[in-house]
Amino acid sequence: MNYEEWSKKAEDNNSLLSNEYFNMQVGLTYSEEKIHELEKKSEELAVYFLKNWKEPEEVYSSCVGAISSARTVKSLLKLHDLRKTEIISSKHKFKSQPVNWGTWRQFVVNAEDKARKEVFDEFIQLTTKISPLIKDRFEKSAEIFEEYNLDPLKDYLMEHKISLENLKEFLVDLRDGVKKRYLEVFSETTQKLLKREPKYYDDLYFMRNVIYNDLVNKFKNINPMNHVKKTFVKLNLDPSKIIVDEIDRPNKYPSPFCSMVRIPTDIRVSYKAENPLNDIKSVYHEMGHAIHGTYIKSDLPYENRCLHSMGLAETFSTFFESLASNKLYLMEELNLSEELADQYINRSKTIKFITLAFYAGNSLFKMRMWNEKIPFEKLNDIYHQEIKKSMNLEIPGEYWQLHHILPESLMYVPSYLLAYANVCEMKEKCEELGGKRWWNNKKAGEYILNVMELGNKSPLADFSKIKPDKLIKGMNNF
Ligand SMILES: [Zn+2]
Repeated sequence: MNYEEWSKKAEDNNSLLSNEYFNMQVGLTYSEEKIHELEKKSEELAVYFLKNWKEPEEVYSSCVGAISSARTVKSLLKLHDLRKTEIISSKHKFKSQPVNWGTWRQFVVNAEDKARKEVFDEFIQLTTKISPLIKDRFEKSAEIFEEYNLDPLKDYLMEHKISLENLKEFLVDLRDGVKKRYLEVFSETTQKLLKREPKYYDDLYFMRNVIYNDLVNKFKNINPMNHVKKTFVKLNLDPSKIIVDEIDRPNKYPSPFCSMVRIPTDIRVSYKAENPLNDIKSVYHEMGHAIHGTYIKSDLPYENRCLHSMGLAETFSTFFESLASNKLYLMEELNLSEELADQYINRSKTIKFITLAFYAGNSLFKMRMWNEKIPFEKLNDIYHQEIKKSMNLEIPGEYWQLHHILPESLMYVPSYLLAYANVCEMKEKCEELGGKRWWNNKKAGEYILNVMELGNKSPLADFSKIKPDKLIKGMNNF
């Protein structure tokens, strides 16, 4: 088998696998047996590649990643189970069941301060039940990467074409650049909502719900899916190529998501209308992923067409999501009153400050974890230190093990921050071409098309010169 034949097989196999997973997540019939078979095949193909070739380098590293995830998938599934059965409150209930890890975020939205603190503290104590699995998974992954002279951090840096020094500088500058205003905004918000200063259990996932509580009903009549499609059309981008699954099935995953089953011909978005206020951002986000996928040129080779860094992938989703924080857009396209648009944007900005501070801390933690080869037993302390520096909160270090991404993904976190910085560049360019209302402008649409269609050869895939200055400036002008 030559490389071309191999890449065709790899792509076909991925496509079948994504189709099964998509069906599973939208509540259609799927076969677990088939999934196991296809996962096995995908591991075999990765092994075959690594035995025969060293290049293209993005394929090399994706194959190492595939082997690592295939060989640690059992412990990952066990972690998902344990979180539901072991991370469980002895005292507090949600919908008459004890609060567990899975219902924690829904529980906190309407819980009393004291109850929230008790559940948080108890879950922190219970992390010892899941730690061995997380440790095992990270150590195993590191070993597999080492066999191929890689580590998860090196791999991440290579994918994003950025050096360790540059990424570190980007994160530290961003963290320090927004800190002063972040502290003011966070404190003003908890004073207003809770009549006190921020505390360690006021985490992002509590704040980003509670802050909108009184606005939820005002968004009832908005259908974000229709609006985002209309905007694509104005930009001369064709949304009809995206397959949108809007059917409400009982087992359908509640949040919208995008699945690139085959690029660029089979790109799907799952959506179930629930809470229009939350849906706006997530629908724009997922449709941003989808429009990117459908416009990648079909004649690009597999490695450029299908293998994108997370930083690049999140760029287009975050870009379209950012329309939901644009006052003119909200007023003129979604028909919000000026007052409501202002209220919504103010709160979104507050959440963005908390997000930036939290993700910067998380990212620096993950970098140190791999770069300094920190033993698992010391990671909680390091997490505590990094969050203290970025958020000025005394969070018990065990918290990272309770997060939904940090104990699962080997790196990932910095991608959102890199994407935010990219989005600042994109917006600047779009305004240059199309003015303040660039979403009405076909030239702006053409620019967006040009940076999307090149797959991982897009100029936005190169993060080597990325700086957080514009992002910081935009935030601090608020
Ligand atoms: Zn995304």
